[in-house]
Amino acid sequence: MTTAHEAGVRTAKAPALDFDAIVIGAGMSGMYQLYRLRKLGLRVRVLEAGTRVGGTWYWNRYPGARFDSESYSYGYSFSQELLDEWDWSEHFSGQPEIERYCNLVADKFNLNRDIQFSARVVSAVYDETGQFWTVSLADGTHYRARFMITAIGLLSAPTMPRFEGIDDFQGPWCHTGLWPKEGISYEGKRVAVIGTGASGVQAIQEIAKTAGQLTVFQRRPNWCTPLHNRPISKEEMAEIRAGYPELFELCRETAACFIHTIDPRGTFEVTEEERLAFWENRYAGQGFGIWQGNFRDMMIDREANRLMSDFVADKIRQRVKDPKTAELLIPKDHGFGTRRVPQETHYFEVYNQPNVKLISMLEEPIERITQTGLRTSAQDYDFDVIIYATGFDAVTGSFDRIDIRGTGGQCLKDRWAGGPKTFVGVMIDSFPNMFMIMGPHAALGNNPRSIEYNVEWIRDLIGHMSDRGLTHTEAVPEAVAEWNDFVHVKAEGLLSNEIDSWMTGINMNVEGKQTRTIVRYSGSAPEYRARCDEVAAGGYRELRFL
Ligand SMILES: Cc1cc2nc3c(=O)[nH]c(=O)nc-3n(C[C@H](O)[C@H](O)[C@H](O)COP(=O)(O)OP(=O)(O)OC[C@H]3O[C@@H](n4cnc5c(N)ncnc54)[C@H](O)[C@@H]3O)c2cc1C
Repeated sequence: MTTAHEAGVRTAKAPALDFDAIVIGAGMSGMYQLYRLRKLGLRVRVLEAGTRVGGTWYWNRYPGARFDSESYSYGYSFSQELLDEWDWSEHFSGQPEIERYCNLVADKFNLNRDIQFSARVVSAVYDETGQFWTVSLADGTHYRARFMITAIGLLSAPTMPRFEGIDDFQGPWCHTGLWPKEGISYEGKRVAVIGTGASGVQAIQEIAKTAGQLTVFQRRPNWCTPLHNRPISKEEMAEIRAGYPELFELCRETAACFIHTIDPRGTFEVTEEERLAFWENRYAGQGFGIWQGNFRDMMIDREANRLMSDFVADKIRQRVKDPKTAELLIPKDHGFGTRRVPQETHYFEVYNQPNVKLISMLEEPIERITQTGLRTSAQDYDFDVIIYATGFDAVTGSFDRIDIRGTGGQCLKDRWAGGPKTFVGVMIDSFPNMFMIMGPHAALGNNPRSIEYNVEWIRDLIGHMSDRGLTHTEAVPEAVAEWNDFVHVKAEGLLSNEIDSWMTGINMNVEGKQTRTIVRYSGSAPEYRARCDEVAAGGYRELRFL
């Protein structure tokens, strides 16, 4: 078989390239891209800022970090051997287990030999004459490669709040997404958690178990619903394993690649009794079933969404004893599911504990961090530990942190200042030979299902080039404009696009991210894949090759 080397990837105008391809990031995306490109015969180097593989599951070591996807629907599907070998211990496994899984994958496929750890990429510049990328690390090292693939994550750039005095605090503090490997001791201590998004909710319900006093600072509540996690027995795992082909087939068919299927009925096509029984069933069911498996009009019909929101609000009122606290925990500014739904295990009951207190930052804003704690508009609080669960500069944040320059020295951050524009979330005009996994405007959902698809699409495109001795490709502007229009059409009418959230490009803690943009493709994953398949089958007419 002709390898990419023989077919011409290295016979281009710049012979002294260090690698055929550089992949940035060694999470689920980067690991799989390395595996696939190696099989194509390419010399690949993965550059990873962390000291081991895993990405999200390497960095997010905070107490309670775990899956929202069913574990078995999240793992890689590409290797039968791996599927046979690995047992998940819980329906929604925790970070330590997921990290072990990522390391097993790296060991099994001998990935680590091509991954350079502690290697933070700070810039990437395309050389038009030589048709290669020069990728530079924080320590000043440079590498040259024909292709550059970003696998840098959509939730991998942690953001801190813009409070004064953060460094003044004398006790231990950290962001949930940068939790130290040696851990932080909080048992019996006075702990502050700032932020109640998905990470905050997971951390709060865990920390509350042993903290002496936990004070939660909430800017805005989210619609949290029960995870209903449980262990997987050996027998159950055997059943899951036998059903993997059907499970992955199901994930290929659903809109967001989860095992949950949207109910084809409209909210008002059933009686009130049926509707409530359906929602009770979903509330008692596991995972994102209540979000991704709700009535088909839940995210577009205001009245349907209002009724669903009322249903969940009543659950919160039933579970939280103090009525004032319950009201603080019920979102008033957005409907159910229009922002990411944090999944919880006894989260609301935490606020019935005597050692837990909720402060609404809308009523009592934090003014500054002090040496011994923090000051709000009402009073000074003393803490032993402060935890920032303040989320990420999502989707484009990890791109903005690298100085990426395409043809004519164009800067990607400037190019995307008014919102990202891509071709199928994988390519950008004027940024040749650059491919993105989980880029803006690609299908997301249960991520690994989309990651595997993106990686294989990129692999096929590079293979196509290798077979023909092509050394340069980029999306034509018309194709980018057409995809952008399609993404915007798909976003129309969605209630989630009327809400400030990371899904609409808003992050109050990041300069320049206060205006809503469409950063997410909201069509279905099958529709996305159909378009990408069509491009490949048509010989990539939307791309320009040299
Ligand atoms: C707490 C949490 C829970 C989640 N739970 C789920 C879930 O249940 N289901 C789901 O589908 N998704 C979940 N996600 C989304 C999750 O990010 C993806 O599932 C998945 O991990 C994406 O893999 P990735 O390789 O694309 O990105 P990441 O895992 O984010 O990996 C990106 C890697 O790139 C590296 N990197 C970034 N910039 C640079 C640079 N400049 N130089 C060098 N290296 C760099 C990072 O260090 C990181 O290791 C969750 C995210 C978080 C934060």
